[in-house]
Amino acid sequence: MARIVMKFGGTSMAGTERIRRVARIVQRQQAAGHEVAVVVSAMAGETDRLVNFCREANPLYDPAEYDVVVASGEQVTSGLLAMHLQALGCKARSWLGWQVPIKTDDAHAKARIEDIDADALMASMASGEIAVIPGFQGVAPTGRVTTLGRGGSDTSAVAVAAAVKADRCDIYTDVDGVYTTDPRIVAKARKLKNVTYEEMLELASVGSKVLQTRSVSLAMKERVRVQVLSSFIDDDAPAADTIPGTMIVSDEELEGLDMERQLITGIAADKNEAKITLTRIADRPGAVAAIFGPLAAANINVDMIIQNIAKDRGETDVTFTVPISDLARTQALLEERKDTIGYYRMLANSKVAKITVVGVGMRSHAGVAATMFRALADRGINIQAITTSEIKVSVLIDEDETELAVRVLHTAYEMDGE
Ligand code: ADP
Ligand code: ASP
Ligand code: MG
Repeated sequence: MARIVMKFGGTSMAGTERIRRVARIVQRQQAAGHEVAVVVSAMAGETDRLVNFCREANPLYDPAEYDVVVASGEQVTSGLLAMHLQALGCKARSWLGWQVPIKTDDAHAKARIEDIDADALMASMASGEIAVIPGFQGVAPTGRVTTLGRGGSDTSAVAVAAAVKADRCDIYTDVDGVYTTDPRIVAKARKLKNVTYEEMLELASVGSKVLQTRSVSLAMKERVRVQVLSSFIDDDAPAADTIPGTMIVSDEELEGLDMERQLITGIAADKNEAKITLTRIADRPGAVAAIFGPLAAANINVDMIIQNIAKDRGETDVTFTVPISDLARTQALLEERKDTIGYYRMLANSKVAKITVVGVGMRSHAGVAATMFRALADRGINIQAITTSEIKVSVLIDEDETELAVRVLHTAYEMDGE
């Protein structure tokens, strides 16, 4: 007997028929003798719909009230799944974030889980009851509802798995594993049997939304065994223990499993960043700090940064990217500080995409970036910004060229499968 946390994403929970299928998958795990907790997402599209209502109410909405609104999607699906399980004759109940409780900090809209009190949950699971937990939500020290950032149900699942000391955390989604790149963009993407925590962390952080970044770092820290697999399976499909999904493994485990690692593990695209340029800033100490200090204080994550000094004028243009969801606040903050910072114009463009190639093999191989620039240039794709680290290279391009760029690079690095 094992203790298993199963997580089902939005597409898997979209509508009565799909929730019924999820209930059957859960029932089968329990019938196999396992203790089961389930973490669910809102129905596909629901969170987007709720976010839109917030934006329409007030573009500079109060994040605490945003959380009240967007957390509701998961409340609906957790109750519905509990009902479907009961209809199949299982003992089941829902546990809202504050009922578990899943304690977070008070950074509304991007809260971090601080602690999960799992005693009541574990007692309920041990009694044969299936615990159904809405993902994405928690409770702040103030007692108010929080959410964990988009895609946060993955993190809820891993955190619950760590708290109940689960043997495994199975992430059921609408693809059957982690691929070399988004299989919806590149038909020739290949499924990875195993991927290391480090590689998955990098891929997730640059836009492979199959797992939320925080869920991967938490799994790595807590040593939770995570598997990604498809919920779109027939009733007579083999049990999760034998389904060929993707297992997230440690470096040491991987060495025993796969000696022939590729140079590049994967390619990711991220359309959720916006580019801001401040022109003609004085080239003096403190100028850049005046821009990024207030953004950090407002909890806005800046990603790519480039600064280019016009030697003749002693002035510089500063270009950087922020999440699109923070664009309005960033613009408001910088507008307020126009005189202190001393820029001439602020230009914003949300029609950009960041394309990243990731691979630990880069540490020992030169030329990865050069291959990327050449392949993009051959297709006439213009690069607006570049950043590199030890195991990844990212470029910012026009959003309309995202799919083309990913396909071209997948071929250029000889990653295409059948
Ligand atoms: P869920 O609602 O189950 O959480 P998501 O939409 O958040 O599902 O994540 C699954 C999606 O991630 C897939 O449908 C796929 O389009 C996308 N994706 C992006 N990169 C990858 C990748 N490298 N491997 C697999 N899926 C990927
Ligand atoms: N429903 C939330 C979202 O769409 C959380 C999740 O599905 O992981 O971002
Ligand atoms: Mg997701």
